[in-house]
Amino acid sequence: MMRTDEKLIIKGKRLDGRKAMDIREMEMKVGVIPNANGSAYVRFGKTTAYAAVYGPRELNPRHLQEPDRAIIRCYYNMAPFSVSERKRPAPGRRGIEISKVTKAAIEPALFLKEFPETTIDIFIDIIQADGSTRVAGINAASLALADAGIPMKDLIIALSGGKINDTLVIDLCGKEDNCSNADIPIAFLPNTKEITLLQMDGRVTPQEVKDTIKNVLNAGEQVYKKQKEALKNRYK
Ligand code: ADP
Repeated sequence: MMRTDEKLIIKGKRLDGRKAMDIREMEMKVGVIPNANGSAYVRFGKTTAYAAVYGPRELNPRHLQEPDRAIIRCYYNMAPFSVSERKRPAPGRRGIEISKVTKAAIEPALFLKEFPETTIDIFIDIIQADGSTRVAGINAASLALADAGIPMKDLIIALSGGKINDTLVIDLCGKEDNCSNADIPIAFLPNTKEITLLQMDGRVTPQEVKDTIKNVLNAGEQVYKKQKEALKNRYK
C-alpha cells in the first residue's frame, strides 16, 4: 500500500539525513565464507547481504546439464530475523521472483560457454532487511563470483532508484520503499552500461524513468569503486 502523503523528505533531507542523490554508507568484503569457492558481504546502511558461490561444478542429475554451457542456479533468501516481525522461512513468491531476476541480472556478465555441463550455484542471504535488498544481493553475488575466480566480462553493479514525495531519489531504505511513489531497482555492467535488471513498482512518467536510469548509472560509479576496493583488499 502506498502512502505518499507521509513526509519522507523535509527541507531537502531524507529520514536519515541524506540528500536525494546520496547512497547510504556502504561496506563490502570478499572471502567471508571460507567453505565457498567465492563469497562476499555487502551492506547499504542497515541492509546486509551475504553471497556464497559454489562452482562451476558438475551438475547432477545429468539431464539438467547443458552440453555447451554452464547453468546458473540462484537462491535469494531473507533470514527470518532480518525484519522485526519474524519472516516465514518457507520460500515465498517474492523470494522466487527475486531469485529469478537476480539470475537474469548476473547471467550477461559470465562466460557460461567455458564451462559446459556444470552449474554455478549462487546463494544470497539477507541478514538484515531495510529496503533495496535485491540490489544489495546482486552486488554481493557479483563480488562472490569474482572472488570465486569465475571469468567475468564485468562486475555487476546494482542500485535502486525511485520517487518519494514526488522527488527522484536513489538507494531507498525500507520506510521509503514502503511509502514511495515508485521503486526502481536497476543492475548494469559498468563498462558497457548494459542494463541487466530494470524493475518498477509504482507510478512514474517515462521521463522520470529515464532520469532515474541516468541517476543510477551516475551514482553506480560509487558502488563500482567500492566493489573494486573490496576485491583489492582481499589480496592485501
Ligand atoms: P527489495 O528489498 O529489493 O526492495 P521489496 O520491494 O520486495 O524488495 O521489499 C522492500 C522492503 O520491504 C525490503 O527491503 C524489506 O525491508 C521489506 N520487506 C520485504 N519483505 C518483508 C517481510 N516479509 N516482512 C517485513 N518486511 C519485509
